[in-house]
Amino acid sequence: MTPREVLALCREKDVKAVDLRFTDLLGTWHHFTVPVSKLDEDIFEEGLGFDGSSLRGWQAIHESDMLAIPQPETAFLDPFAALPTLALICSIQDPITGELYSRDPRHIAIKAENYLRSTGIADTVYLGPEAEFFVFDDARFDQNGHEAFYHVDSSEGAWNRGRAESPNLGYKLRSKEGYFPCPPSDQLMDLRNEMMQTMIDCGLDVEAQHHEVASGGQCEIDLKFQPLVQMADWMMKYKYIVRNVAHRRGRVATFMPKPLFGDNGSGMHTHFSFWREDQPLFAGGGYAGLSEMGLYAVGGVLRHAPAILALTNPTTNSYKRLVPGYEAPVNLAYSQRNRSAACRIPMYSQSPKSKRVEFRCPDPTCNPYLAFAAIIMAAIDGIQLKLHPGQPIDKDIYELTPADLAAVAKAPASLEDSLKALEQDHEFLLRDDVFTPDVISTWIEYKRKHEVDAMRLRPHPYEFCLYFDA
Ligand code: GLU
Ligand code: MG
Ligand code: MG
Repeated sequence: MTPREVLALCREKDVKAVDLRFTDLLGTWHHFTVPVSKLDEDIFEEGLGFDGSSLRGWQAIHESDMLAIPQPETAFLDPFAALPTLALICSIQDPITGELYSRDPRHIAIKAENYLRSTGIADTVYLGPEAEFFVFDDARFDQNGHEAFYHVDSSEGAWNRGRAESPNLGYKLRSKEGYFPCPPSDQLMDLRNEMMQTMIDCGLDVEAQHHEVASGGQCEIDLKFQPLVQMADWMMKYKYIVRNVAHRRGRVATFMPKPLFGDNGSGMHTHFSFWREDQPLFAGGGYAGLSEMGLYAVGGVLRHAPAILALTNPTTNSYKRLVPGYEAPVNLAYSQRNRSAACRIPMYSQSPKSKRVEFRCPDPTCNPYLAFAAIIMAAIDGIQLKLHPGQPIDKDIYELTPADLAAVAKAPASLEDSLKALEQDHEFLLRDDVFTPDVISTWIEYKRKHEVDAMRLRPHPYEFCLYFDA
């Protein structure tokens, strides 16, 4: 859509309000709203001013005036606003220098796409994330959420993990059997359909929706692959729609990677492939139908995985998901069929166009702009340095002997560890100023102070269970 088409859409739909959205460093959408009379073609060049000082990870107070420049191709009618409202995702500009803001995650994602093109490796990267999330019953989870900490035995099913139970009226999903029985066992089909249709109405291309393995209301809605920035924009819309449809129906949706002890967590497996002149570059005659380039991309992602996890798995809770036994990767290995490997090469189709790498580590608490940028920067590094990923592991990694297992590199066990890895390994992210040293150090500092230390310094509810009577 061009600015002129956006203005025409506003007239056609009798839009009254224009909502300007942007993503803070951590990945949360923020917004402010102007009457439609303020929107004209100039705004798409000049932007609208706002105070960027109170946003997490952004400007200090003395340099806080910023401009939000609406991006016309991101326009959509907000399906949740009572007043007819057009929403636009913005790029952020420093009004003094006229430069795009280096801590604007969307800008980082744009630079990553440009960098890929400038290397000559590819002109397009397609990404397909599979974001999972839980839907809880609002009130009941609030009252009883604390129970999630106390129960140690996961074998007893959903009632054991933090939800008050009314009498058993049947059709209750057994533990880890949420994949994917029909209604009435699947009680969230209508809610997911409403989410899916709302996404379609907002211009997203949905592949499928389904219940996921965790019995406690775990869902997944998959979008058709898109270029990097477009897909990151879509993920912001996706989360907004999931949360708001749930809210409208008296439920609450969470993208926390591990909300329930003893059941599967929520990942955001990210499929990616490089293309040039509409030709897929990861398809070839090597292992699992990969080209050399595809193999080296895997090599780059595995080599830099400990560092990129600080961006793709950026919360303390992320590492409670990356444990054995829940279909989440623990080992930094690759395989064509093994879902316990960090990189999987899906074999659904023999078509070269569908040849891609699935990086299974990411989870949906990531900032998609930064996570996608980091993944492709690692892949580019692997391709440039011809980093071969070594032998694949086609056995179930969970079944390997202790000696074999010890030889496989492990994903970091905590946010603290991945931040340390990022501190030591980030040169590959700095190429062409895609990530700036300032962004890397701000990220590490913020995460250490506000999340790692904040958690470490607080008594944990489970410590009461363990030690209250010690
Ligand atoms: N929920 C699993 C995870 O944490 C993934 C299940 C699947 O294969 O889709 O990664
Ligand atoms: Mg899934
Ligand atoms: Mg997957």
